[in-house]
Amino acid sequence: MTTPTKTEMIAEGKAKKIYATTDPTKLIFHFKDDATAFNAQKKGTIESKGMLNQRISARLFTMLKAKGIDNHYVATLSDREMLVERLEIIPVETILRNLITGSCGKRLARPEGEEIPHPIIEFSYKSDALGDPLINDDHAIAFGWATAAELAEIRKQTYAVNNFLKAFMAERGILLVDFKLEFGRTPEGRVLLADEICPDTCRFWDAATKKKLDKDRFRQDLGEVSEAYVEIDRRTAM
Ligand code: 5GP
Repeated sequence: MTTPTKTEMIAEGKAKKIYATTDPTKLIFHFKDDATAFNAQKKGTIESKGMLNQRISARLFTMLKAKGIDNHYVATLSDREMLVERLEIIPVETILRNLITGSCGKRLARPEGEEIPHPIIEFSYKSDALGDPLINDDHAIAFGWATAAELAEIRKQTYAVNNFLKAFMAERGILLVDFKLEFGRTPEGRVLLADEICPDTCRFWDAATKKKLDKDRFRQDLGEVSEAYVEIDRRTAM
């Protein structure tokens, strides 16, 4: 098979440019160093982030596939470019929380790092204009964003990602605090894990020191931002 090449840019997000390719079933993601937070009110760049996020995502997607958790990753084309399956993106973001922090802690006035007996799954509507508002299954079904069967499949795959990734990171001295996933539909209507899995979309804390090793260093002006991405790249390569 000849490797597809980029044609026109079809979307530019906060952290990625997305290109159509010479193969109508594939897209190319270009990972940028740009970072935004708080619904793009805070903007900056994180040195080498695009390269590190491509590498970390590719590594995790490859391992997930080997564990039977299929996803859109096809191949890495360059430092910053990933070939992926073209999907119809389901406009529902799925968040899984193992420990409480971030918007959940704030919304419900829970203490930072609170332990919970079972992970919490939340859904939000993928809309920059609305700031990705929290929704439940009924909203997603009523507004036609996903079917009940798709939501059940999304929950199942999200727990499977958590089971693998939590243990994988724990072996490397890292707590998987929470993460955000996105899913799409294949042309056959199968729900497939998409987007990226990296320190932009996950919270990772050093298990011993609780040092944050993710985008919260940028969101909260904690310094050593790109160093945290380098550290996650290094530990996930072990
Ligand atoms: P929270 O809802 O606490 O802000 O975020 C929960 C988890 O989902 C965190 O790991 C966070 O990085 C991720 N997350 C939630 N929304 C977004 C988003 O719009 N973009 C990115 N990159 N990550 C998100």
